[in-house]
Amino acid sequence: MKEYLQDPTFLMAQRQLDNVAKAMNLDSSVHARLRYPRKSLIVSVPIRLDNGDTKVLTGYRVQHDMTLGPSKGGIRFHHHVTLGEVTALAMWMTWKCALLNLPYGGAKGGVCCYPEEMSDNEMERVARRYTTEILSIIGPEKDIPAPDMYTNEQTMAWIMDTYSNFVGYAVPGVVTGKPVSVGGTLGRIEATGRGVALTVKKALEKRYPELNAPTVAIQGFGNVGSVTAKHLYEKGMKVVAVSDVHGAIRNPAGLDIYKLFEFMKETGSVVGFEGSEKIDGMALLEERVDVLVPAAVANVITEKNADRIQAKIIAEGANGPLTTEADQILLDKGVLIIPGILANAGGVVVSYFEWVQDIQHLFWSEEQVVEKLDFLMEQAFDEVYELYQRKNVDLRTAAMMLGVGRVATAKNIRGLYP
Ligand code: NAD
Repeated sequence: MKEYLQDPTFLMAQRQLDNVAKAMNLDSSVHARLRYPRKSLIVSVPIRLDNGDTKVLTGYRVQHDMTLGPSKGGIRFHHHVTLGEVTALAMWMTWKCALLNLPYGGAKGGVCCYPEEMSDNEMERVARRYTTEILSIIGPEKDIPAPDMYTNEQTMAWIMDTYSNFVGYAVPGVVTGKPVSVGGTLGRIEATGRGVALTVKKALEKRYPELNAPTVAIQGFGNVGSVTAKHLYEKGMKVVAVSDVHGAIRNPAGLDIYKLFEFMKETGSVVGFEGSEKIDGMALLEERVDVLVPAAVANVITEKNADRIQAKIIAEGANGPLTTEADQILLDKGVLIIPGILANAGGVVVSYFEWVQDIQHLFWSEEQVVEKLDFLMEQAFDEVYELYQRKNVDLRTAAMMLGVGRVATAKNIRGLYP
C-alpha cells in the first residue's frame, strides 16, 4: 500500500486536488476524504497460456468515489499498469464525471500484462478471470467498467458475458463500450474524438477567432487521435502532422485524412503515407502549429521538452499527457491547455448514454446520441471557460474546481457516515 502512495502519477493527481482545494477554500473534511480512493482491490489473475504453461498476472480495480452514483471508468491491459497509476486515473474519472454532470463517481482498473504478445484466446481468459475476481464490486448499480488501452468492444462483451453467467441472466448495463449487438450504443466509437474536436473548435473561436485554417499536429492515430483528426479536417482545419507508435509524418500543405484512413487500413501505420515526410515521433510535439493534440500515452510533455512546444492550444486527448512541471512552463508561455477531464470526456458521456439505454431497455438513434453529446460537451466547455475568465485561473483549475465542487457539495449534504 505504501508503494502506491509514492507513485508519481498518484502524487500528481493528489497535488492537483490539493491546489484546487486551496484555490476554492474546500472544506477540510471533504478534502481529506477525496485525497484517497474509497476502495482498492488487488487480484491475482492466473491464466493458462496457449502453450499449456500457467502465468499469474496482477489486476486492480480502484473506486475513488461513489458520492454521485455508481463509479465509472475504463479497464486497461498494459505492462505499465500499477496500483498508483490506476488510482490517479480513478480520481481523474471522479472529476470528469462530475464536470460533465453525470451521476457517477470515478473508478479505473487494469491488468499488468503484455497484450501485444497474447493471442485472442489468452486475452479472453485474462478478461474472464479478471472479471470473476472483481465480480463482487462491479455491477450496473455499483461500478461500470469500459474499454481503455488495449481493451475494446470484444473485451467488454467477454466481461458482460462472464458477469451475466454468474448472476444467471443478461446484464448489459454492467459495462459500456460493448458491441451494439449486445446492448452497446450507436455513436460510441466516435464519441471521444468528436468531443476533442468540439473543444478545440470552441477554444479557437474564443481565443483565436482570426485564424481561418488553423494547423494541427496529433500524437497517436488510434481511436481518439484518428477521429479527432477526421473531425478537425471536416471542420476545415489543416492537419499537418500525425504519429503512431511506429513514427510520425508531416506535410505542411495538410494531410488528406480520408486517404490516410485508407492507407492505415492497408498498412497498419501512418508512416510511409504518400506525400508526407517521416519525422521523429517526439519531434511532432514541437511542430510549429496552432493546435497540438497529444492522443496517445501519458507524460509525453515534461519539463524537458515543454519550452520547445510551439502550439497556441493543447487539447489533451490522452489522459495525463502533460506533467505538472510542463503544465506550468506552458501556462507561463501563454499556451491555452484544454485539460483531459474536459477535452476527452466525450467517451464517458456516451458511455453514460449507453448505460441509460441499457437500464431503460430503450435505444436511441445515432442522431439523438450525437445531439445530446454535443449539448453536454458544449455546456461543460462554456461553464469551464466562464469560470476560467471570472476567477483568472487556468482551464485545468477551472475544470477541476467545477468537478471537485460538485462532488464536495454532494458529500457535504450527505454527511459523513456514521
Ligand atoms: P488506441 O490504442 O486506439 O490508440 C493509441 C494510439 O497511440 C495508437 O495509434 C498507437 O500507435 C499510438 N501510440 C502508442 N504509443 C505511442 C507513442 N509513444 N508515440 C506516438 N504514438 C503512440 O487508444 P485510444 O483509445 O485512442 O486512447 C488514447 C489515449 O486516450 C489513452 O491515453 C486513453 O486513456 C485516452 N482516452 C481514450 C478514450 C476512448 O474513448 N478511447 C477516452 C478518454 C481518454
